[in-house]
Amino acid sequence: MQALSRWLLACCLPLQVLASGPDDRYLAVEALPATLSPAQLARLSWDHGRQRRLYATPAQQKQLEATGFRFRTLPHPGDNPTAARPHKSGDWASFPAYEDYIARMEDYAERFPELARLEEIGTSQQGRKLLVMKISRNPQRDEAEPEVFYTSTMHGDETTGFVLLLRLIDTLLENPDNDPRIEYLLDHLEIWINPLANPDGTYAGGNASVAGARRFLANNIDPNRNFPDPVDGDHPDGNPYAPETEAMMNFAARRNFTLAANFHGGAEVFNYPWDSRAERHPDDDWFQQAGRAWADSAQQNWPGGGGYFRDLNNGITNGYDWYPVSGGRQDWMNAIMGCFEVTIELSAVKNPDPARLPDYWQANRDALLGYLEQALTAVRGRVVDSKYRPIADALIQLDDRDASIAPVFSDADSGDFFRPTQGGVHRLRITAPGYAPLELPKAESWNPNRAAPTYILWPASDSKQGLQKPQHH
Ligand SMILES: [Zn+2]
Repeated sequence: MQALSRWLLACCLPLQVLASGPDDRYLAVEALPATLSPAQLARLSWDHGRQRRLYATPAQQKQLEATGFRFRTLPHPGDNPTAARPHKSGDWASFPAYEDYIARMEDYAERFPELARLEEIGTSQQGRKLLVMKISRNPQRDEAEPEVFYTSTMHGDETTGFVLLLRLIDTLLENPDNDPRIEYLLDHLEIWINPLANPDGTYAGGNASVAGARRFLANNIDPNRNFPDPVDGDHPDGNPYAPETEAMMNFAARRNFTLAANFHGGAEVFNYPWDSRAERHPDDDWFQQAGRAWADSAQQNWPGGGGYFRDLNNGITNGYDWYPVSGGRQDWMNAIMGCFEVTIELSAVKNPDPARLPDYWQANRDALLGYLEQALTAVRGRVVDSKYRPIADALIQLDDRDASIAPVFSDADSGDFFRPTQGGVHRLRITAPGYAPLELPKAESWNPNRAAPTYILWPASDSKQGLQKPQHH
């Protein structure tokens, strides 16, 4: 199977340069090479758990066939003619044209300057905008609040989350009844929302409609195999980081996200880390309860007939147990960026009849708000030096949970940190290079009625390190 690795390195690079648009096909695998290793399998663009369904360009298909694969071509999930239904602004049962989407995002930012700030984090390979809306009170300022991130449709043909996140932005900003639940989120969180991470894929059939959506980026790279991998290291797919991947990596590095969700389609399930290895995440208990909460809420609020959000363990799954992924975004965010990120599959149909979009919204509206609220149940504080200057990237550890494989860090702006928990009292350990470690036997998860404690770290060699203790303000 060396041929497969060679193909990954040699074949995809020339395609890079063209960026003529994604050209993935949807294939049923009729025969696998006998010698394919699990690691090689993890690098291919499998359609989620359906191990016999694969995305590949014609060139990639040829290369795979040379190694022993046999395929049958299936209709592409992005080719849904109903998705082309004409869109009117404010109509949530249709998909916006690309220009409508951009105009809508700009319009929200203009109409709600006290709550929203629009950031262009980069440009796609074909020149479309990668937009993120920040929603919070005082959106122009970085405040000592948990930063949370929703992003959708990095696989361009998985379009349900695109409209759901646009509608979430609308709900948070318009909030016509001054819903206290939404007011609370606006007061206490910095919410970042990226409805469309792969516009070239979603609008592969033209800017007028999502009817010909494709999974890959314009250079035919699968974005969810293109991130640094905690097991396989940099460039696990053998490709350079795509411009869209770079934009997302740079954006995440500028922020300090507490938790995040990455929305996909093709199944109905809450997928939690790891994707890249069989061992359990140190906060497996946290992820299971967050997943259970999402699945229960989505099932209860589903207005349509039949069941919804019941795949795998009744709507939740460990990623690796489902199917291993190398180069996925989720594990990179957890292992490298210090963020609790999950992957949420919103609809069995990837590019659904838009008449169903209001049903998906009704099913997931509460879950979307509830997951953000989880960032507020956290052990929280500020890490500063003896002159009260913020210490960036101090490592936050709770109890005996392994912070080396799933770190959480303090933020550069004010040294603030938010370490999600399920509540209760925890042993807290704060370490930073050059400073003596600080240990507190009993740190409480956040009570919003109390100011967060400030923790002073003393230089490792300083004789006063015996004085270190929490300073409450
Ligand atoms: Zn996907």
